[in-house]
Amino acid sequence: MNLEGKAAVVTGASRGIGRAIALELARRGARVVVNYHSNEAAAAAVVAAIEAAGGEAVAVQADVGDFSQAAALIKTALKRFGRLDILVNNAGTTRDQLLMLMKETDWDTVLRVNLKSVFNCCKAAARPMVRQRQGRIINITSVSGIAGQAGQTNYAASKAGIIGFTKSLAKELGSRNITVNCIAPGFIPTDLTADLPAELKEQIIAATPLGRIGKPEEVAYAVAFLASDEAAFITGEVLTVDGGLVM
Ligand code: NAP
Repeated sequence: MNLEGKAAVVTGASRGIGRAIALELARRGARVVVNYHSNEAAAAAVVAAIEAAGGEAVAVQADVGDFSQAAALIKTALKRFGRLDILVNNAGTTRDQLLMLMKETDWDTVLRVNLKSVFNCCKAAARPMVRQRQGRIINITSVSGIAGQAGQTNYAASKAGIIGFTKSLAKELGSRNITVNCIAPGFIPTDLTADLPAELKEQIIAATPLGRIGKPEEVAYAVAFLASDEAAFITGEVLTVDGGLVM
């Protein structure tokens, strides 16, 4: 799983799972664009950690839910590295609420940041990858998009949408040697899950055959595999990294 010479964009790479993915891709030799939305200092720290380990990275601000900002992000990566081999659509957010209480803005924000961002970035990345006759697109979905979760109609819909999008794009781009896959993490401790009620966390652990929560690095290892040459014959797949929660 050597990624030397590859150029990668990881959206939402300043914190949590995206941070772990950026570090892991860089550790395996990829040059990485560390995208962030507002947390410039956190993104700079990820770049510094990659550089300290002898790698190459650059932080690029963009709201990937915005069509033109996502296009500019991909353009910046192409300008900096001259190619784009790996796109990881990881940026995501939650606005959890029961449907009866959910505001329209809670729905719109989550669908925009989680799902429209995937359309935006893939749309910008597809043409250069087709020209290269090579590419890896990895979209981070969630077990909520597979099994559903009360209080997450917006989030689960966005994540299920990513799965349908991924399978469709895999069919469109397969003949050009571009693979498109999803990773569906289970419960991973990050800022995103910090406010979940303690009882819910305990319920999730109790329902997980491996009896524990996951680590951001464990998601990152799966991303590195799907990004590698060794995963060349895998496309349209949803790989759950959840300790067996939704098997
Ligand atoms: P997190 O710790 O909250 O980090 C979110 C990241 O996304 C940050 O880097 C943030 O940037 C970035 N971001 C948010 N909105 C953005 C936007 N509009 N444009 C660009 N970047 C944006 O979340 P996480 O837990 O690592 O989650 C990462 C992904 O894994 C998400 O897609 C999430 O749905 C998925 N996931 C997480 C879990 C879990 O248990 N944690 C489980 C399943 C799936 P700033 O730092 O600049 O704000």
